[in-house]
Amino acid sequence: MPGDKSKGAMEDVVVIGAGAAGIAAARRLQAIRPDLSILLLEAGDRLGGRAWTVGLPEAADIGLDLGCGWLHGARTNAWTAIAGEVGLTVDRTPAPWNDGGRRLQRDDAAVRAARQAIGAYFERLEGHEGHEGNDAAMADMLEPGNPWNGQIRAVGTYITGAELERSSVVDYNRYDPGPGPDWRVREGYGTLVSLYGKPVQARLGTEVTRIDHRHAGRIAIETNHGVLNARAVLATVSTNVLAAGKIDFDPPLPDKIEAAARLPLGLADKLFLRLVNREALPADTHMLGSTRRGATGTYQLRPFGAPVVEAYFAGDLAHDLEGQGRGAAFSFAGDELAAHFGADIRKELSVLAMSAWAAAPHIGGSYSYAEPGASDLRGRLAAPHDGRIFFAGEACSTSRYSTAHGAYETGVAAAELIAGSFSQSP
Ligand SMILES: Cc1cc2nc3c(=O)[nH]c(=O)nc-3n(C[C@H](O)[C@H](O)[C@H](O)COP(=O)(O)OP(=O)(O)OC[C@H]3O[C@@H](n4cnc5c(N)ncnc54)[C@H](O)[C@@H]3O)c2cc1C
Repeated sequence: MPGDKSKGAMEDVVVIGAGAAGIAAARRLQAIRPDLSILLLEAGDRLGGRAWTVGLPEAADIGLDLGCGWLHGARTNAWTAIAGEVGLTVDRTPAPWNDGGRRLQRDDAAVRAARQAIGAYFERLEGHEGHEGNDAAMADMLEPGNPWNGQIRAVGTYITGAELERSSVVDYNRYDPGPGPDWRVREGYGTLVSLYGKPVQARLGTEVTRIDHRHAGRIAIETNHGVLNARAVLATVSTNVLAAGKIDFDPPLPDKIEAAARLPLGLADKLFLRLVNREALPADTHMLGSTRRGATGTYQLRPFGAPVVEAYFAGDLAHDLEGQGRGAAFSFAGDELAAHFGADIRKELSVLAMSAWAAAPHIGGSYSYAEPGASDLRGRLAAPHDGRIFFAGEACSTSRYSTAHGAYETGVAAAELIAGSFSQSP
């Protein structure tokens, strides 16, 4: 009998990874196939993966997201509706890049010229008649000598987490988060994803090390807490985890490993700074560290009006600052803020929290980008193997990769395939 514990640990479905994709898959399976036993295995000590909210003692109703923060494509983003269902608050303050968003930079000639150069660059990207055999690197679309190339590079790293030389134009053009502006969850996106995962039977601190699928009817899953058996497995781990061979598939799945390796995670890290005197900075306003350098941070001043600054670093800069630690990141952010607000602003600031996604042992980066020529591999990564090993996660989405709602959608799609595979079995 499926799920009968008396015959040893045999589950119908084991889901590996309790991030947005794994949680969405488990919840959908529970809803459509309540007859199946489903177990979620998570190597880390919490639900959520790259959705991770930390608290703020001074403002208990506000969450600080070390990972995903924006409900992109918010009107159609599945998490927006779920936030309402679980009783969290969707904040509709316009994002800095949406109409009505508040930006610090004055609307002077330089800012207008920069905006025009960035707009022209993205038009060139979008005009690229790209397909897999005719892909290019995003850097190939830069105009040599354009004085705004530094800023274009900075924006590029915020989008892909990687320098423009490494990322695919075709993949960029396929990105489509869906209609709607970008909103936030006041209590945190991480709070939302982990709350949604609560009703799922999950084992934390359980790292899958090997998947033995040599035998018909039973897949053996080796973990740091022993072996489990399942009829179907859904792997939702990041591409960097897969590519590093942290899960040993037996027999091997070289197609998946190759796809994962060419869809690596870019890096974005956040540094949250506490502000002693909240009036020192304007509320919910965006600031770009430098309009000239490629290696610059982007800053959300006083998100939700809280006495906090959220600094965002991406690409090589994020690798450097993460490697050097909080002190270096604090000093970098302090310098960029001091250039706008004067040296005294440093006295107002101290470190609250910082992410280190590259070093996160079970994740290894922030969000996936495609190397030039690799965009089609997202489909290859998502394809089930042998009708019983399934894959989901943000990198499996062809148009909503790199997002938490893209991850959700791949989880739901995998759940439906898994449910279908069970109804076909004898
Ligand atoms: C700084 C930052 C900012 C971002 N901003 C946004 C944003 O504003 N909006 C947005 O939509 N998205 C954003 N994202 C991206 C978004 O967070 C991710 O795309 C999404 O959360 C990925 O979900 P996932 O389920 O695919 O993967 P993950 O969240 O990585 O889940 C995979 C899980 O698998 C676990 N795992 C790994 N190996 C094993 C193993 N061997 N055994 C068991 N478990 C294992 C991991 O611990 C992890 O919990 C951001 C990400 C970062 C880092």
